[in-house]
Amino acid sequence: MYTNWETLKKECMSCTRCRLCESRTNIVFGGGNENAEVMFIGEGPGKQEDLTGEPFVGRCGQLLDKYLSAVDLDRKTDIYIANMVKCRPPQNRDPKQDEQDECIKWLCEQVRIMRPKIIVCLGRIAAQRLISPDFKVTLDHGVFERKGGIFMMGTFHPASLLRNQKQRPQALEDFLKLRDKMREVCGKNYNFS
Ligand code: SF4
Repeated sequence: MYTNWETLKKECMSCTRCRLCESRTNIVFGGGNENAEVMFIGEGPGKQEDLTGEPFVGRCGQLLDKYLSAVDLDRKTDIYIANMVKCRPPQNRDPKQDEQDECIKWLCEQVRIMRPKIIVCLGRIAAQRLISPDFKVTLDHGVFERKGGIFMMGTFHPASLLRNQKQRPQALEDFLKLRDKMREVCGKNYNFS
């Protein structure tokens, strides 16, 4: 158990707990505001994230930023973004169970220190692990469930939205629901229009 964010991050940045350390360029610890009340959790770093050490860059990141902007949120100030695994799985395959089992220990520490009021799972991998093992994004997206005192919701991964434009209006609805939930449970003043 870590007492503060900086110690946690320093320790994590040299992690070799699972095989993904062998092929990574950078560990992607997370990004945004660690004092935010809302945390987004994706699947794992892709090629650009591995190269830069930042989460959700490239086309996926640009699309995520558009959705955030549509509900008056800024990734640098209003949210924190992390992933189920912090090192890139080769060929962008799904992270394996044992890799997730190791890496979730870092994520749990991040959540424990951050104490977000809301967690948004981006895509199936995060939603099935954190909300429900039988979570189906196409059926269950946009529904808030309270777990351990945190409101949790799953929505489409930006990579899925890039492939399937028909999902985009549904994703926007989910972000509007997020804004409503933030109005309801978050303490800070946001510049919501
Ligand atoms: S994926 Fe997570 S557990 Fe595995 S080496 Fe990277 S930081 Fe460590």
